[in-house]
Amino acid sequence: MQNDERISALNQLLDTAKNIVITFHVNPDGDALGSSLGLYNFLLKFGFEVTPISPNPFPDNLRWLKGSEQILFYDTQKEAVEEKIEKADIIFFMDFNEMKRLDALAKPVKASAAKKIMIDHHPYPEAFADITFSSTKVSSASELTYEIIEAIDNEKICKDVAECLFTGIMTDTGTFHFNSSRPRTYEIVGNLLKTEINKDQIYSNVNDNYSEERFRLLGYCLNEGMTVLPHFHTAYIVIRLNDKEKFNYQIGDSEGFVNIPLSIKGIVFSVIIVEQEDVTKMSFRSKGNFAVNCIARTFFNGGGHTNAAGGHSHQSVDKTIAEFVALLPQYLSDLQKTAKEISS
Ligand code: 5GP
Ligand code: MN
Repeated sequence: MQNDERISALNQLLDTAKNIVITFHVNPDGDALGSSLGLYNFLLKFGFEVTPISPNPFPDNLRWLKGSEQILFYDTQKEAVEEKIEKADIIFFMDFNEMKRLDALAKPVKASAAKKIMIDHHPYPEAFADITFSSTKVSSASELTYEIIEAIDNEKICKDVAECLFTGIMTDTGTFHFNSSRPRTYEIVGNLLKTEINKDQIYSNVNDNYSEERFRLLGYCLNEGMTVLPHFHTAYIVIRLNDKEKFNYQIGDSEGFVNIPLSIKGIVFSVIIVEQEDVTKMSFRSKGNFAVNCIARTFFNGGGHTNAAGGHSHQSVDKTIAEFVALLPQYLSDLQKTAKEISS
């Protein structure tokens, strides 16, 4: 389907729909919530009954987003969520492209007869949606959401919608650093600013709301928790359960830590390994052409973008570290090549 055809197909579905559910990936970030709540605030203007549904809790620094107080959580509100899904005419899938990213929420969603619409910017989309909006060119799912809702009715892109979409674009680009070299991204940001959103307030809401302990944890991570392997142009940070306890760890506290080692001269591959009660979570970042999504997908049950991916292991932290370090020799020439390209 061409883009225009997809928009008309979506418009047709909206013509007869009443109940709409918006879902997004587990451990939601600024783009998952920004795109979803941007769409939520937009659809409310047409009089739909709209319910945003999250697989699990989201970080406190995103709690100010309009509509976040309406989110239902599948981990704690199973029955209410299943009722909404059962009644839904349309389900949106925002900022992810594999059902497994919904965790347990995938089950009721798969069973639903609702029409399914994906709006996402990751590579390799699964083919589960009736209409798939998927592009890896855009900065974020929020940017793609803007394109879609602008085509539906740009008059309804009000300040509430714009605040959410701006948040998604800002956070997924690391404040206009990653994946943000297309002029169109800035045209969109320009249009969002015309609704009189306060970009500095949004930046501050997201970035200046952490606890003191989060920064103590960062200090600890950089001083003691980080290992640098210059030969492999790689660095990794480890956070264990006892570190979390010591620094009163809250969801989102280690957000962004994984980017920091990439500022060390010569480092092109950075990983953070975070111990959770049931699983060892990993985030991967890289520079240039060194593709971390392949590593996440092949070895750590995950995926993502070329330069930003995530995954997990069911092994202990120590075994996960050993497995990760043992992989590096096979990537040595790619790492060296990327390091050379970056420095030239
Ligand atoms: P983060 O490291 O910030 O959790 O995620 C970085 C990127 O990788 C995001 O685009 C995110 O959607 C993706 N990602 C993180 N974890 C997973 C995962 O388990 N599976 C897949 N397919 N993508 C992931
Ligand atoms: Mn995203």
